Amino acid sequence: MGSHLAESPTAGGRTHLDHPLQNTNDTNRDRAFESLRRQFPNWQAVRDADPGAIVAAIRTAGLANQKGPRIQQVLKDISAERGSLDLGFLQDLPLEEARAWLMKFKGVGPKTAAIVLLFSLSRPAFPVDTHIYRVTGRIGLRPEKMTVEEAHFLLEKIFPPEAYYAAHLNIIRLGREICAARKPACQAALCADFAIMQRILRLNQVYNEIVFPILFLKKGGEMDAVQPS
Ligand code: SF4
Repeated sequence: MGSHLAESPTAGGRTHLDHPLQNTNDTNRDRAFESLRRQFPNWQAVRDADPGAIVAAIRTAGLANQKGPRIQQVLKDISAERGSLDLGFLQDLPLEEARAWLMKFKGVGPKTAAIVLLFSLSRPAFPVDTHIYRVTGRIGLRPEKMTVEEAHFLLEKIFPPEAYYAAHLNIIRLGREICAARKPACQAALCADFAIMQRILRLNQVYNEIVFPILFLKKGGEMDAVQPS
């Protein structure tokens, strides 16, 4: 356990708080974390603090009345089970065991578990946040209807483990700076090729789902009717 707050309760955890363009939620979350770091020297102090002080420190993040007690409870549960807040032992467990250990705590889902594994323990896990979920759906890296939980498993299969760290940060950056939730800047130079490819994929989809079935029906439904591209 380090003397200052790291991203998760381990020594040496890295933070990723310095993206140049952030939406309001990102900014408020980062402000809350910075406020927590300023006011509490380490995670033991967060665990043992007056609950009201934690809620006040993270108020800008929103839902502080829920998040504050939840953070403290997870810290208490880890301490009760392990005798300390050092998560270094997770480095020696098989990945899925380490993930399952983290996810048994109330409030820790696949994203939080993957963030701790990747950023604090340098384990090969791929966190899917709101930006990654949106962008991977738009560019067709995953089926649109897939849940965010399912997206974690799929994207971990798509990217090679050594690319998780860079892919995570770069897709978030793409989502924040160009492929924004409300107004994606598809005209941006970076996206010109993407946009063309997406149009081709859409045309192909229209052909397969509408044009081909019509041609097939016109030909009397014979099996050797025009084949899709
Ligand atoms: S072209 Fe670029 S901005 Fe538009 S949806 Fe695709 S990735 Fe997002």
